[in-house]
Amino acid sequence: MSSDSDTEMAEPTAVQQRHRDAAAEVLPAHTDLYIGGEFVPAAATETFETTDPTTGAVLTDVARGRRADVDRAVEAAWEAFDETWVDYSAGQRQRVLTAIADTIETHADELAQLETLDNGKPVSEAAADVQGAAEQFRYFAGIVRENPGETMTDSQRQAQVIKEPYGVVGQIIPWNFPLMMASWKLAPALAAGNCTVLKPAEQTPLSALRLAELIGDIVPDGVVNIVPGYGDEAGAAVANHDDIRKLAFTGSTAVGKQVMKSAADTVTDVTLELGGKSPIVVFPDTDVQTAVSLVAAAIFYNTGECCEAGSRLFVHEEIADEVLDGLVAAVDDMTIGDPLDDATDLGPKVSRAQVNRTLDYLKRAQKDGGEFLTGGGQPDDEALADGCYVEPTLIDGLSHDAAAAQEEIFGPVLTVFRWDDYDEMIELANDVEYGLAGGVITEDISQANKTARDIEAGYIWINSYHDLAPGLPFGGYKQSGIGRELSAETLDHYRQTKTINLSL
Ligand code: NAP
Ligand code: MG
Repeated sequence: MSSDSDTEMAEPTAVQQRHRDAAAEVLPAHTDLYIGGEFVPAAATETFETTDPTTGAVLTDVARGRRADVDRAVEAAWEAFDETWVDYSAGQRQRVLTAIADTIETHADELAQLETLDNGKPVSEAAADVQGAAEQFRYFAGIVRENPGETMTDSQRQAQVIKEPYGVVGQIIPWNFPLMMASWKLAPALAAGNCTVLKPAEQTPLSALRLAELIGDIVPDGVVNIVPGYGDEAGAAVANHDDIRKLAFTGSTAVGKQVMKSAADTVTDVTLELGGKSPIVVFPDTDVQTAVSLVAAAIFYNTGECCEAGSRLFVHEEIADEVLDGLVAAVDDMTIGDPLDDATDLGPKVSRAQVNRTLDYLKRAQKDGGEFLTGGGQPDDEALADGCYVEPTLIDGLSHDAAAAQEEIFGPVLTVFRWDDYDEMIELANDVEYGLAGGVITEDISQANKTARDIEAGYIWINSYHDLAPGLPFGGYKQSGIGRELSAETLDHYRQTKTINLSL
C-alpha cells in the first residue's frame, strides 16, 4: 500500500474516486460523542481515525471517549431517565420507536452507503442491514405494551409482581453489522423504558453516530448516548460503571468473559451475544445445487463476518464430491470487488488486523494438513491491492481438533468434513465450545427435526440460513452467550422484577 502522501500525489483510481465522492456525500456532519442530546468533544479532546477498508483511506476522525466521557454520558442518561423518560407511557415510547424506524427507512440509501464505506460490506447487504435495523424498532414498537404483571392474594396479603426498567443500561457492540447491532440493542432497551449509553466498535462508529444525529429530534435528550472509543477505554468504562444497572454486550467470547467479570464487581445483570463456529449438516437426499447455494450463503454472506456463519460443513460422503465441486464453482462465480458496486458479492474484511488474523488461521490450517479446495490467501488482483480482501476459502482434510475447525475465524473460510455415521457426525458437530447456530439440509423433515434437536445450539435453520425474523429468539448455547435478542424475551432482559406486597 502507498503512504498517505503518495496517495494524495497519485491520480486516484476509479474505485478511490468513487469512495471519495460517496464519502463527501454521506459522512456524518458530527463525529463527536453524542451525550445528553448534543455532539460534544471528548473530555481529553482526543480523536481516532476510522478508515475505509476498500481503499485504506482515512474516512474521518472520531472523538475518542474515555472513562470521564462515559461518566458524563451515564449522568446524562440518569437525568433523562429521572426527569423525562420514566414518565413516558408505553404508547409514547411506541411512537418514538416507530418514528425512529420511519427515519431509518427515509435515510436508507445514505445509511447503507455509509455502512459500506466504514465496514466494507457489499452495499446490497448493507441495504438489507438498514431494513433489518428499521424492523427492530418496528417490532419492539409493536410489543412495547407487553408488560403483564401478576397478582397473588390470600387472607394476609394482596400482592402485585411488576416489571420495571433498570434505568440506565450500558451496551457494547461489534463492527460486523454496526447499524443492525445498534438497533438490536437500542430498540428493546428503549421499548422497556431504559436510557442507554452505547459504545460502537472503533472500526465502525459512523452509522451509530449518524443514527443519533437523525433521531435527535425524536428521542428526548439523554435517552440515547453514543460514546465511540477503544474497547479497553470507553468499553471497559461502560463494563464496570457503578451507575449502569444492566449490560448488554455483543462481540467475541474472550471480551464477553471480561465484560462478565467486570459486571461481577458491580453485581450488574449482563446479557452476552458472543462468537460461533456453527455446523451445517448436509444429508445425501438433498438436491446438490440447493445444498451448494445454502452452504455458500451460510459461510460467505458478509464476508464470513457473521457470528452465526455456517463455518463447519458436515456433508454426507455419498454427495460430498458433488457438493464440494459445486462450492468451488460457486466461488469461481463470485464477484469480489468494490462493495459500492451492486454486482459485488464479496467485499473486503473490516480491517488489516482482521485480514492478518484470517491469514494466520489459513497458514495454521495448511500446517495442520488442510488442503485448500479453493482460495487460501489474498486475491491476486492488482485492482484489489489497497483493500482488505481475503479469498473465499474451502479447507478439506483437517482433523476436527485443528484450530481452523475449532476457533472462530470470522472470515470467508469453510472447513469441510465428510460423514457416513450419524452419531459420530453429531458428536463432532457438537465438539466445539460454541453453540450459537446450526443448519440442516435435507428433504426428510423428521430427520431434519431430529438433527435440529441433536445440535447443541440456540438457533437451527432447516433448509435456509441467516434468516432472522424479529419475534424469533436469537442467542447462544454454551460459550456463545447468555440471553436472547429479537424477541419478547429480550424485553425481560431489560427489566427487573418488583414485588409490592400489600398487607390485608
Ligand atoms: P470484540 O473484540 O469482542 O469487540 C466487541 C466490542 O467490545 C467492541 O465495541 C470493542 O471495542 C469492545 N471491547 C473490546 N475490548 C473491551 C473491553 N476490555 N471491555 C469492554 N469492551 C471491549 O469483537 P469484534 O472483533 O469487534 O467482533 C467480532 C466478534 O463478535 C466475533 O467473535 C463474533 O462472533 C462476535 N459477534 C457476535 C454476535 C452475536 O450476536 N452473537 C454478533 C456479532 C458479532 P473496540 O472495537 O474499540 O475494541
Ligand atoms: Mg471503518
